Amino acid sequence: MVPARGALFHFLDVFQRKRPQPERQFTLGGMLVRMEMIAMDTGYPRLPTDTDNGLLLILSGPSGVGKTTITRGVERAIGDSVFSVSYTTRAKTEADTEGVDYHFITDERFSELLAEGAFLESADVFGKKYGTRKRWVDEQLARGRLVILEIDVLGAQQVKDKMPDAFGVFILPPSEEELLNRLRNRKRESEEQIQKRFAEAKREIAFAKESDVYDTFVVNEDVETAIAEAMEKVAAARLNRA
Ligand code: 5GP
Repeated sequence: MVPARGALFHFLDVFQRKRPQPERQFTLGGMLVRMEMIAMDTGYPRLPTDTDNGLLLILSGPSGVGKTTITRGVERAIGDSVFSVSYTTRAKTEADTEGVDYHFITDERFSELLAEGAFLESADVFGKKYGTRKRWVDEQLARGRLVILEIDVLGAQQVKDKMPDAFGVFILPPSEEELLNRLRNRKRESEEQIQKRFAEAKREIAFAKESDVYDTFVVNEDVETAIAEAMEKVAAARLNRA
């Protein structure tokens, strides 16, 4: 019995040493942290909080529709969601925080990143460039998170072409007149700029309805109701894709 057990343990020992070791552990501030390689093809260290429940959520809508409020509402309400902070060449305003709302970069840096293939999608919006970093999105999806992209329709089309499993939500205003009122009430732009945004909004809405980029539409009549509706639809999409 004893030699046999010894042989078995010897075999297991050799077997273990030959196998690729998928787990690593280290201590951080006295806490033991275990990391497991998620899968050989992603190469991201697996964290104890990771799941296989990743979903890419595209949220779009015309300027003034209340898209950012809805996006941030969904982000706050869904525990494992993460917001993709885009790269842009537009000027930072007083309302913006670097690294939270956007990564503000120069035209030159944007062109470098584009040439390196660092963007999952990119587009020119109102004469400025915007792009989503591919590496970050891939890693967050591999961790099982709900990854939120708040991007325009052209970017959304690129994402959907590359990642058909992405779930697209388009936010609509209750009416065109109401959208125009909201654009004016923001008091951010001149009447000329407002009219330009309004014309662009109408084009975006028409595109969103005709294309197959968006899986669903949410009308933002009341913001809390719109957030709840978007969350319900996202939860259902996650269940369907699981
Ligand atoms: P704003 O500069 O007003 O924050 O955003 C202008 C527009 O650019 C919005 O429609 C917003 O959704 C879009 N946008 C923001 N980030 C990205 C991005 O990374 N890619 C694309 N394609 N559009 C973006």
